[in-house]
Amino acid sequence: MIEPVLTIVVPCYNEEEVLPQTITELGKVLQSLMDENLIAGSSRMLLVDDGSRDETWRLIYKASLHSQMVKGLKLSKNVGHQNALLAGLSAAREVSDCVISIDADLQDDIHVIREFIVKFREGCEIVYGVRRKRDTDTFFKRKTAEMFYSLMVKMGVKLVYNHADFRLMSKRALQELDKFKEVNLFLRGIVPLIGFQSASVYYERKERLAGETKYPLKKMLAFAFDGITSFSVTPIRMVLLIGFLSFFGSCACGAYFLILKLLGQTATGWTSLITSIWLLGGLQLIAMGLIGEYIGKIYKESKARPKYIIDFNPFLPISGRQMNM
Ligand code: UDP
Ligand code: MG
Repeated sequence: MIEPVLTIVVPCYNEEEVLPQTITELGKVLQSLMDENLIAGSSRMLLVDDGSRDETWRLIYKASLHSQMVKGLKLSKNVGHQNALLAGLSAAREVSDCVISIDADLQDDIHVIREFIVKFREGCEIVYGVRRKRDTDTFFKRKTAEMFYSLMVKMGVKLVYNHADFRLMSKRALQELDKFKEVNLFLRGIVPLIGFQSASVYYERKERLAGETKYPLKKMLAFAFDGITSFSVTPIRMVLLIGFLSFFGSCACGAYFLILKLLGQTATGWTSLITSIWLLGGLQLIAMGLIGEYIGKIYKESKARPKYIIDFNPFLPISGRQMNM
């Protein structure tokens, strides 16, 4: 087999603290895989600068001048982890046989990259990195993540448990991924839909090398909510179910009070009246909000705006490149 060209795609947002170390470590991994003739000599890492406001891009650009192994893709503004990753994947697709995505903080074990490549050479088109334990995450993050995965699975979304975005995809898998045209792309849910032969590789997740998480609680919740509403209409069905339940419940109540009245006992109660009005009003508002969420999604999809805009693409011929430093 001819050695495959590998590109490691790394989305980076304000990662100046970890980048120098990340570049060194990934460089070592690439070099040792090249030495073993597992990957082609032209393999490289592609660092995607997701509109960072610190020294991230300057660091990437400098490193790319020093080493053939380092390439930098610059986005015009911050578009979030998922879109930055997509930008990297599609830029890398045409110039690679396989692509591995990994976070810049190296929480994922880069030493299993070798195993990824071995599986790819055995014929797997997608290799998932799966966390064995989540000891390094806080109790809160672990619990919320657990809840999220089980909720998604209950709603019928096929997810690989405890797999984040550390994975290998072949060129063929990436070409198929490109056919999913939705603007709101939830990669972890889409990738299993591609099919093909796949495998999982297990590893221990570590602490962030330096800097702090770019996923505070608010972003995490938004991400989870987005994932759920992008993949499932179960929430709307649940609203329908609650509607039916309260309708039949109130019919039963009505019948009961009517019978009481016929028997000469009129039920009194301002409290019960006001409670039911508020309850129903609340439920209606929730339902409308939820439906609005889905309509909002349709609205966004129908506009089909670009998910990201590239400022500098290292794989284009010099004349096609653009850049504002
Ligand atoms: N990231 C990004 N754009 C953003 C937020 C994060 O490209 O708007 C990158 C970040 O640089 C990192 C990866 O996404 O490489 C995951 O972020 P982080 O490690 O902060 O998330 P956590 O591991 O805490 O969930
Ligand atoms: Mg991290």
